[in-house]
Amino acid sequence: MKIYNFNPGPSVLPKEILLKLQKNFQNYKNNNFSILEISHRSKYFINYAEIVEKDLRDLLNIPQEYNILFSQGGARGQFSAIPLNLLKKYEKADYINSGFWSYASFLEAKKFCHPKVINIKYLNNKNYQSLKPMKDWKIHLDSKYIHYCPNETIEGISIFEEPIFSNKIIIGDFSSTILSKKINIKKYGMIYASAQKNIGPAGLTIIIIRKDLVLKTKQKIPSILNYKILSKTKSMFNTPPIFCWYVAGLMFKWLKKKGGILKIEKKNILKSKMLYEYIDSTEFYYNLVNIQNRSLMNITFFLKINTLTIIFLKKAEKKGLYGLKGHFIHGGIRASIYNSMPKKGIISLIKFMKYFEKKFG
Ligand SMILES: *Cc1c(COP(=O)(O)O)cnc(C)c1O
Repeated sequence: MKIYNFNPGPSVLPKEILLKLQKNFQNYKNNNFSILEISHRSKYFINYAEIVEKDLRDLLNIPQEYNILFSQGGARGQFSAIPLNLLKKYEKADYINSGFWSYASFLEAKKFCHPKVINIKYLNNKNYQSLKPMKDWKIHLDSKYIHYCPNETIEGISIFEEPIFSNKIIIGDFSSTILSKKINIKKYGMIYASAQKNIGPAGLTIIIIRKDLVLKTKQKIPSILNYKILSKTKSMFNTPPIFCWYVAGLMFKWLKKKGGILKIEKKNILKSKMLYEYIDSTEFYYNLVNIQNRSLMNITFFLKINTLTIIFLKKAEKKGLYGLKGHFIHGGIRASIYNSMPKKGIISLIKFMKYFEKKFG
């Protein structure tokens, strides 16, 4: 039976990458050792790391005035690292609250600075969860930066606008949306993403930061979180997660081969449209997010008869559709359909949803 993995993260990887990993596992580039066994200081890895960086630069069109750092500690590590690197103790910053992850970043920042939370969530006249457009965000004059999350992975709610605040440093948590669509990097001071959603295995965190911000460390902070140290050592201050970095590189090559960001963006729009259109066409399932804010990556929905949710999940697994359970704070169903989820996976899911509705509706 064909299995489709809708897990939110760690999430699906392309079959061809898994097969390639298996095939090369013991022999890295026809040498008699595994990628797991080589030094990050060896010529093999240093050469490889340069190619990985170049491929990511090409894919996202990252200008030379930005550094790319391959860090650890996940996106949550960055929740601490950002205020520690960019602010003096108790300086102010604006934290946009659009859902679980952006609020979590605000809570963490409270330990290190004076973050001000700006709530942009509201229910529109049809009771759909909506996010205020940027022009209505109440930004503070004395905030050093604005932090926001363009895709809330748990709720499946997104901000598609490009930042409009030209005199502020903008920081974006792109964990669940990086590489899914074009990003205008120049609008940001920094963007970051943990790898396990749309890049590769868990363990790697990618930071893209404008060089002038790297110089501004104002307080004594842990070295492994220090952007200046990470930049100077080419992300090899301590032993990096070699394997995750390696797989991320394979993923970048895969994405290039598939035609790059514009191609994958079109595919992502199509995949999510198929699923939302089906959900909207029936009374049996419903989505609670305002159309303008619907995520392309994490599609959340509920069953009209809530008690059927558990049966839905059980039967879905029997048909090879895994990882559809909504986050426990949110409930319902969540289909995470990152770059690596083929269109066929969406077709299978819709087919199952139709069957389930017919049987229980
Ligand atoms: C998953 C996720 C995180 C947390 O990532 P970790 O790597 O577990 O720290 C933060 N923000 C967003 C948007 C996420 O999707």
